[in-house]
Amino acid sequence: MSLKKKILVTGGAGFIGSNLVDRLMEKGNRVLVFDNLSSGQMEFIEHHLENPDFTLMKGDLLNQEAIESACKGIDFVFHVAANPDVKLGASDTKVHFDQNILATYNLLEAMRKNGVKKIAFTSTSTVYGEASVMPTPESYGPLIPISLYGASKLACEALITSYSHTFDMQAWIFRFANIVGPRSTHGITVDFIKKLKENPCGLEILGDGKQEKSYLHVSECVHAILFAIEKSKEEVNIFNIGSEDTISATGIGKVIVEEMGLSDVDFTYTGGSRGWKGDVPRMRLGIEKLKAMGWRPAYTSERSVRETARELLSGN
Ligand code: NAD
Repeated sequence: MSLKKKILVTGGAGFIGSNLVDRLMEKGNRVLVFDNLSSGQMEFIEHHLENPDFTLMKGDLLNQEAIESACKGIDFVFHVAANPDVKLGASDTKVHFDQNILATYNLLEAMRKNGVKKIAFTSTSTVYGEASVMPTPESYGPLIPISLYGASKLACEALITSYSHTFDMQAWIFRFANIVGPRSTHGITVDFIKKLKENPCGLEILGDGKQEKSYLHVSECVHAILFAIEKSKEEVNIFNIGSEDTISATGIGKVIVEEMGLSDVDFTYTGGSRGWKGDVPRMRLGIEKLKAMGWRPAYTSERSVRETARELLSGN
């Protein structure tokens, strides 16, 4: 995506958003980041601040006026902002409704009022719930999310597809596996590094450690997003993005221990097949649709986690 398009990235100061912004800027676009900096960080985007093609608008998607003003003159929206904390729904039942569903509705209204016609949305494997088909293809159904986060993202998808049809918009919906890499601020890799820095002798793993999930490096995720947008032209385009294998929670623990140069670390488990209420213990996405178009991931799940551990430990 290039030719000096004017692109709005909600959540562009966050982990995935800022990696996407770097790539969009490299390709010569004009980029407006709209972010309330709730989990996003200035240091992830400050290298662009002097560039005349880059604008930061500090604003909240729950402020309708602010997002309407951000949408003026925009050619394409990447809607990345969200509350991505899957665990949180079990203790706060409103957060995903507000930050994901209501925020997406406000954005779609702002787009409609400003005549902005194209949106890409960062969705998640959790919309599938506990899928009985593995790898799970985009066509899998019925979709029965088991977390309030997954439910909110599925609701966002439904709003986006219905706006696309009703108001002649075009949408790309990307259902991600677990994304890891530089600037990640949450998730199992970040948690394990933090825990092992606090106590290099022991690591508590949520669940039984046998949860098996797919992990993809953010550089590959961003590449897949832009590749899919270039290559697909339907009114609604839905793609899984993930790696072709999985790694267990215990396997991730072992990789982090190795990368931190530790030994004799005692792994303990909180027990049960899932890490928390709403955790999907087994996840691997079918990526045949993207592969048929010519994209395939270069890294395995283990390599993605290992690279991430190296990047995070070296201060990236
Ligand atoms: P992140 O928390 O780093 O990024 C979210 C960004 O949105 C932050 O910069 C935050 O400040 C901003 N934001 C949140 N609420 C806002 C609001 N009301 N108004 C304006 N800005 C707001 O999270 P991430 O891991 O980079 O996730 C990015 C997207 O990808 C999310 O939509 C998430 O649901 C999705 N996703 C992430 C993963 C993953 O493994 N990281 C997996 C599946 C889907």
